[in-house]
Amino acid sequence: MKNLWCWRCKMEVPMLNEEEYKVASKLYRDGFEKGKCSMTRKTRFKDLLDYYKNLTGFEETNPNAIMHHRIELYGSECESCSKPYRTPKASFCAACGNKRESKLINYAEVLHEESPKWWQRLLVLNRAE
Ligand SMILES: [Zn+2]
Ligand SMILES: [Zn+2]
Repeated sequence: MKNLWCWRCKMEVPMLNEEEYKVASKLYRDGFEKGKCSMTRKTRFKDLLDYYKNLTGFEETNPNAIMHHRIELYGSECESCSKPYRTPKASFCAACGNKRESKLINYAEVLHEESPKWWQRLLVLNRAE
């Protein structure tokens, strides 16, 4: 669990890591399978809401909100403003415009050092868009 800026809620919220998210998504499914239509959302997803509260100390009432509070969905934090990069593949920060330090292979450099192959050109073209 980690407090991160949520791009949908426009506030900082406790986000779940993959292990915690696995438990949450199971409880969410259970709510659908075992719950009854007559139940309120709060009763139906009580286990999920309780789990989230135990974990984070944050009293969330909307089970759908919990399901999008998953660190994996938003990518890593910006080095400049520490908000998450909105998507794991973002090339710059949507909040402050900071260019992301790419840990991916830089294909332009690869082209420079080795004789280019036709498929590498394609990759460069795609990335430039
Ligand atoms: Zn949110
Ligand atoms: Zn930023």
